[in-house]
Amino acid sequence: MPSFEEARKIILDSVVPLGVEKVEILTATGRVLAEDIAAPWDMPLWDNTAMDGYAVHAVDCPGGGTLKLAGFLPAGDHMIAEVERGTAVKIMTGAPIPPGVDAVVPYEETEEQDDRVTIKTAVKPGDHIRFKGEDVRSGETVLPAGTLLRPSEISMLASFGKVFVPVYRRARVAILSTGDELVEPGEALAPGKIINSNSLALAAAVTQAGGIPVMLGIARDNRESLREKLVEGLRADVLITSAGVSAGDCDYVRDVLTELMVVQAFWRVDIKPGRPTAFGLRDGKPIFSLPGNPVSSLLTFEEFVRPALLKMMGHSRVLRPMVKATLQMDIPKKPGRVNFIRVAVTQENGEFLVQSAGKQDTGFLKTLLLADGIAVIPAEKQDLRAGDKVDVHLLD
Ligand code: AMP
Ligand code: MG
Repeated sequence: MPSFEEARKIILDSVVPLGVEKVEILTATGRVLAEDIAAPWDMPLWDNTAMDGYAVHAVDCPGGGTLKLAGFLPAGDHMIAEVERGTAVKIMTGAPIPPGVDAVVPYEETEEQDDRVTIKTAVKPGDHIRFKGEDVRSGETVLPAGTLLRPSEISMLASFGKVFVPVYRRARVAILSTGDELVEPGEALAPGKIINSNSLALAAAVTQAGGIPVMLGIARDNRESLREKLVEGLRADVLITSAGVSAGDCDYVRDVLTELMVVQAFWRVDIKPGRPTAFGLRDGKPIFSLPGNPVSSLLTFEEFVRPALLKMMGHSRVLRPMVKATLQMDIPKKPGRVNFIRVAVTQENGEFLVQSAGKQDTGFLKTLLLADGIAVIPAEKQDLRAGDKVDVHLLD
């Protein structure tokens, strides 16, 4: 049975980025760029004014002075004629610097009367001018492949005139719940039945990671039903099942996956909760079999499936930020397995503090609602005390 770290390494080593597609820039936020993007032109495109004011020859007013007004230049317009010495052009932010002049004096430093403007400050060449290419040079690779597209990257791409952007494809993730006890939300409950919450929970997790959930519904605890659904699921980029992989009498997921030529990397991981987590591949396609317990299935999604999906969708940073935090409570623990503790994280004087988010038994889903971090307690650690430092994955 692999350790937590071994299991995650096996998974991450066996998945590769999916193909590339071009998407409209409006829908590209959160996607990962699949090609290097070089600047098609200088930015700014031309010298322009950073302020509303007067464009002048700096030599005319080294210590201030009075100049004749020679024109008005709003943003969106441009001037062709050379500005004569001893004159100024009234100019609005963003407008191109007219030929001849070499500085801009902001409004605040001037006084305009009739057809003259008095400059009340010393002026140097280059004052308040944004120069051509000062931000970005034509041909410069500003956005390398692998860049996550946030609003700032979208801004840069838009300023390059890009309408379509090459990004990694979103993973289509088939989600299958298994169990005779399950009914779908909205269906009538009967004695012994529970609602299939895992499918929707995992779909939400897939969506949040940027993937596309493909809902397969419920497979019953028999080989025929499982086979039919698993075959369908193997058409997606990734297949996730929940439940039916423990050691119970009705746990057939394992048999049927083997029958379908899935090569299993492991059937269990040395973690708590989430020990019955399995991972296999068929022709390079990853298949995750997660525990049925709703808390365990979400925790194992978080620690194993999410990083894999992110890698497949081109992300270079696939793990959540991990911080050192100080425990505010004792945690009983036996040495042996990595433990995941659902914690509430706060910050005080620049230090992260963690409280238990509630009862840690995996039966308590409410604890997950109150958790904004997962403390990852190393296998060899024993009982921890308040004040001890622990590693915490920040969930948001
Ligand atoms: P199993 O792995 O099949 O032994 O299931 C473990 C536990 O998770 C049992 O209590 C199941 O009833 C519960 N469970 C399994 N599948 C789901 C599901 N899709 N939604 C909610 N609970 C589930
Ligand atoms: Mg079951």
